[in-house]
Amino acid sequence: MTTPRTRATPRTGGCLCGAIRYESDGDVMFALRCHCRDCQRQSGAASVAAIRVPAARFHVIKGTPKRFVAQADSGNEITRAFCGDCGTPLYVQVATRPDVVGLRVCTLDDPGWFRPEADIFVKSAQPWEPMDAAVPKYPDYPPGKSYPVTPGQ
Ligand SMILES: [Zn+2]
Ligand SMILES: [Zn+2]
Repeated sequence: MTTPRTRATPRTGGCLCGAIRYESDGDVMFALRCHCRDCQRQSGAASVAAIRVPAARFHVIKGTPKRFVAQADSGNEITRAFCGDCGTPLYVQVATRPDVVGLRVCTLDDPGWFRPEADIFVKSAQPWEPMDAAVPKYPDYPPGKSYPVTPGQ
């Protein structure tokens, strides 16, 4: 689903040290803040602002990110791409949806336009983190937004 208010094209971004640069000119499919423990650990923050964008319209234009592959609660393999020099988490990809990239919003050169549609995985949200009451909250994924467990669904 296209969300016009989160459209900002073309988008460019990269890691803290500048070794990795990317661009993404596809429409935002889903804008979220994730409160899962894996995102908390990887980012060192209580939640992560992310957008799902089409993988076909996302390109790393400088450098080669390192990849850390782990298994999500669903059993899906999730690949977390980050800069091997400065450690910045850049994006994630779930094995069953290779057509989607989950981009870390704060690695964009201009993250200011971001508006979350949902807080997800609030079941593991930190009690000390302030949250916007106007944004819908879900224990894990909102209906229709979870990743399929079987490829091709
Ligand atoms: Zn870097
Ligand atoms: Zn997460």
